[in-house]
Amino acid sequence: MSYDTDLKLFIDGAWQSGEGRDLFPVVNPATAQTIAEVPLATEADLDAALAAAERAYPLWRATDVEKRSAILKKAGALLKERAESIGRLLTQEQGKPFAEAKSEVLGAAQMFDWYAEEIKRDYGRVLVRPTGSRSIVVHQPVGVVATFTPWNFPIYLLAKKVAAALAAGCSVISKPPEETPGCTGAVAKALDDAGLPKGVFQLVHGVPDMVSRHLIGSPIVRKVSFTGSVPVGKHLMKIAADGVKRLTLELGGHAPVLIFDDCDLEKTLDMVVPQKFRNAGQVCVSPTRFYVQDGIYDRFVQGFADRTDKVVMGNGMDDATRMGPLANARRPDAIDSLVRDAEAKGARILSGGQRGNDGFFFQPTLLADVPLEADIMSNEPFGPVAVARPFKDFDEAIEQANRLPFGLAAFAFTENGRRANLLGDAIEAGMIGINSFAISGADTPFGGVKDSGFGSEGGKEGLETYQVVKAIHQA
Ligand code: NAD
Repeated sequence: MSYDTDLKLFIDGAWQSGEGRDLFPVVNPATAQTIAEVPLATEADLDAALAAAERAYPLWRATDVEKRSAILKKAGALLKERAESIGRLLTQEQGKPFAEAKSEVLGAAQMFDWYAEEIKRDYGRVLVRPTGSRSIVVHQPVGVVATFTPWNFPIYLLAKKVAAALAAGCSVISKPPEETPGCTGAVAKALDDAGLPKGVFQLVHGVPDMVSRHLIGSPIVRKVSFTGSVPVGKHLMKIAADGVKRLTLELGGHAPVLIFDDCDLEKTLDMVVPQKFRNAGQVCVSPTRFYVQDGIYDRFVQGFADRTDKVVMGNGMDDATRMGPLANARRPDAIDSLVRDAEAKGARILSGGQRGNDGFFFQPTLLADVPLEADIMSNEPFGPVAVARPFKDFDEAIEQANRLPFGLAAFAFTENGRRANLLGDAIEAGMIGINSFAISGADTPFGGVKDSGFGSEGGKEGLETYQVVKAIHQA
């Protein structure tokens, strides 16, 4: 299959090619072959992007909400229309099965559609007090925004940030991941084709540390939104502190899944196994630490292993594939070292446990009886590995779920309604799915607590993160 797109930067409404710029190889993770090269932004490019965003901001902010909304809706419609071709780029660049890639593009389209509607209903407030004094509370866009997004959901996560920021009236400079430049370029193309005025949105690929220091260090940028790892999030927070920049940080998790003995076991297994291996486990809310009540532990791990053995691993463009390769050459190394460490410390490998032959593959894997001292019990694998341990009662399950410094997503399976309520209260996480994995969507706030970051994306809360609140008091 040919890789059919031009890789360029998008600055001030113009597409910039590789001439005079360093190039970065784009690698198909299913074959480990280089399929293209993406130009990397220079400091002059970043300055041009900053100047364009600064010029465009007052004009976009003053643009009538109906017009803003219509442009975002059109961009969403174009993404939907182009979902097949963009999905093919995504699979070739990132590896996920084509059906997952196409559904990611449709999810991104929905983000534009949803925020195009939401901004129409974003009103301020008037406080009229018994004494007659009044205060008007208004929402205003925060200003120029810089976004940094990762390679696991390169289109969806970009759309989540950009749709909300543009709806709010901000201009935006986005640095997508270099691994997946074609599919993110398609988002810029959709916005351009939808009639977004020049300078309102720029897309700059580049060396991550250079780009983030340059953009976050600029007084022009007033808000930073990052999705990625905890160490990088902490690093960006320090840079942003100098300019007192507003931040949204969506960092890693290590999602616990509590399986109680009153759950519908077969139904639960049918749900959890495909969810674990979606996007080869490279999902910040991927279900990973399975704590299973002791009476059903053996049956659960056996059922999990049987289903895992049947997950077809292969090139994401093959119809039969249910799990593709990992996104880059770093990932199989990282997973292998976590699995070997757990094995050496006494974990049993019930399924998988090995790398694939070509490309960046690692088999779908289940580790049982994993000791707490194993690195994988504390470090998010961000790959196709599930770990299982038994627990006795509710209190022990909660203690295990909350034992790490992360708190992004958590899941629990039980048919007991009272227990479900207690779980919702007791688990320290930004999102909790009970008998459900449907925790993310355009209308739902998504975000973590503790080291998993702060700020929400999605829902009306996602719009608010690109706004400042001003109170105007009248006597
Ligand atoms: P990494 O920490 O090097 O990079 C993670 C992401 O941050 C990448 O998209 C990268 O381009 C970006 N990045 C790195 N340094 C940056 C900087 N100085 N400024 C701005 N952006 C920067 O790790 P990696 O090897 O690409 O991925 C490994 C880990 O990252 C995983 O184990 C996982 O925990 C985390 N991760 C999390 C998410 C998420 O959705 N929360 C997504 C991707 C990766």
